[in-house]
Amino acid sequence: MIRFTRRLLLALAAGTALVAPPAKAQPSFPNRTLTVIVPFAAGGPTDTVSRLVAEAMGRDLGQTMVVENVGGAGGTLGAQRVANARPDGHTVLLHHIGMATTPTLYRRLAYDPVAGYEPIGLVTDVPMTLIARHNFPATTLAEAVAIIQRDTDKLNYANAGIGAASHLCGLLLMSAVNAPMTTVPFRGTGPAMQELLAGRIDLMCDQTTNTTEQILGNQVKAYAVTTPARIGALPNLPTSAEGGLPAFEVSVWHGLYAPRGTPAEIVNRLSHALQVALRDPRLVARFRELGTEPVAQDRATPAAHRAFWQADIAKWRPIIQAAGQFAD
Ligand code: ASP
Repeated sequence: MIRFTRRLLLALAAGTALVAPPAKAQPSFPNRTLTVIVPFAAGGPTDTVSRLVAEAMGRDLGQTMVVENVGGAGGTLGAQRVANARPDGHTVLLHHIGMATTPTLYRRLAYDPVAGYEPIGLVTDVPMTLIARHNFPATTLAEAVAIIQRDTDKLNYANAGIGAASHLCGLLLMSAVNAPMTTVPFRGTGPAMQELLAGRIDLMCDQTTNTTEQILGNQVKAYAVTTPARIGALPNLPTSAEGGLPAFEVSVWHGLYAPRGTPAEIVNRLSHALQVALRDPRLVARFRELGTEPVAQDRATPAAHRAFWQADIAKWRPIIQAAGQFAD
């Protein structure tokens, strides 16, 4: 005998078959808050990119993605944290070009800077800018170069440690103008920017994701963007080639990594969320305001990321070896 329950009656009335609703898929991943480790201080350019990505990825993953800043030692402390994290996809690393230089620059590390990770996808290529304290006595790149060559190591140049993008950019500048400056390392260029704004640091080269607003607000002097063409967010800022230093060109790629041994389906789920995040209109608009844009969708994949990363390690190895600059 059929018991005419309310549900059965409703189903009959609606002419629907009485089948159990499909069990709601219980995704085992992610099953709690995720953490993105940023290997530099809060308030800096990598942090800014990471917070935008984490917020948008969290929406797609249905879990909050929090950013944790683990700065110091040119990004190696944060990178080490992720290499040693549980490989379940809940802890990932958002790092930049330093992932390509660290394997050569650091000959003694307590983790494997290459095999320690599963690449998830590339994120963005961010231009760099050469900036100075607001009262630095130069208006153009040529004037700044003349002062750097005259005062050399009386000037101080901020960076985020050996292997940081600001370190590489500084090396490029100093070798292009053939003048060393005193370098002052910080846990990230967020804190370095505070010192530059206070007039205690003379010069810095940093991603536009940390400098665009200060440049537009005339809080700092800006001399060049280190890309082949001017960028939309800073249309009045000449390129380094326009300013007479074509060799001073670099942009900072960023990628997302899981610890080695993270299952492929989890890496792929994270990559999918990254691809969705990089099309998020709010993220795209904010990236554009900060002088950058997301990579094309086919670069935000594990395979494209791995190939690019490996090629960049190979590109930087002879440059670093020839310069004889090592972190140890
Ligand atoms: N811009 C820094 C660097 O020089 C890192 C940061 O603070 O995000 O690599």
